[in-house]
Amino acid sequence: LHDKFEAEHHLPPVTLDGERISLLLNAGLDLNTEQIHAKLCDGVGLYRTESWFMQKGQFPSQKEQEAWYREVLARHHPDPVVMRTLDIGGDKVLDYFDIKEDNPFLGWRGVRVTLDHPELFLDQLKAMLKANAGLGNLRIMLPMVSHSEEVDEAINLLEQAYFELQEEWADQFYNLERPEIGVMLEVPSSVFLLPEWSQKVDFCSVGSNDLTQYLLAVDRSNAKVADLFDPYHPSVLRVLAQIARDCQHYELPFSLCGELGGEPEGAILLVAMGYRRLSMNFSSLNKVKWVLRRLTVCDMEKLLRECLAQSSAKQVHRVLRAFMIEHQ
Ligand code: PEP
Ligand code: MG
Repeated sequence: LHDKFEAEHHLPPVTLDGERISLLLNAGLDLNTEQIHAKLCDGVGLYRTESWFMQKGQFPSQKEQEAWYREVLARHHPDPVVMRTLDIGGDKVLDYFDIKEDNPFLGWRGVRVTLDHPELFLDQLKAMLKANAGLGNLRIMLPMVSHSEEVDEAINLLEQAYFELQEEWADQFYNLERPEIGVMLEVPSSVFLLPEWSQKVDFCSVGSNDLTQYLLAVDRSNAKVADLFDPYHPSVLRVLAQIARDCQHYELPFSLCGELGGEPEGAILLVAMGYRRLSMNFSSLNKVKWVLRRLTVCDMEKLLRECLAQSSAKQVHRVLRAFMIEHQ
């Protein structure tokens, strides 16, 4: 089965009726394999910077970070690389940074941590800005935003980092650029603030893993409730469709970088909703491309309408199974 997908890896991700879908990489773990991957995708839609921090024994210095980010940006240049600022807390812990909470998924995580530690945040932002000098393919993304003030504060800190670096580099000819800044939509409250946030940020990307977790109140890493964690739940699908509609209405570029985009059924439904940028693990790229190349957007929209009309995840899965068998 794998060979079938592999055989078309060099062909573009275009639907049967000619709609070009951008397929991007979720990256951050393995620099060696990412070298090969760079040629097979349209850039990096989610670079999880915390993965590297997790392998370290202490916070890497700004200089160390700069070298690391530069390698990543250069590897994918001129394609865009969306680097997410440190997303620790919840299921992601650093041995050298103690967070002990009764309820970590509802606690101190993502941008909440870095805004409370501006020195860490500024270090990371400056390292990213320096790494991007002369390249220009960096985009910065904020994880776990749930309040408007967090977006404002993060933007202010990015401005501060930019101006401080400009001063630091005043006598050099480095080309400092202001990268685009975006937010992850992974907390339900963020979805309802799109009218306002579309005025503040340059793009957004749906983190469907956390969005599913918070929408359904199901711990994404608890095996006991694993069967309740389902991004095909009609409520999740309806929210994802609403995000696409709102982003189109407010002209905010949008994408999705949760696991759902790397599943054939998920990718089909998302394209039908209007998503044109999907970011996924490398192992999903060929499979998703293969499936998208065999359907028209019209086929996908018809399936989406049927799924959105269901009232349970079980029913949605039944509809999807029948569709996949029919289109094998
Ligand atoms: C998500 O929540 O969907 C996401 C992409 O981020 P992570 O899985 O790293 O929390
Ligand atoms: Mg997340």
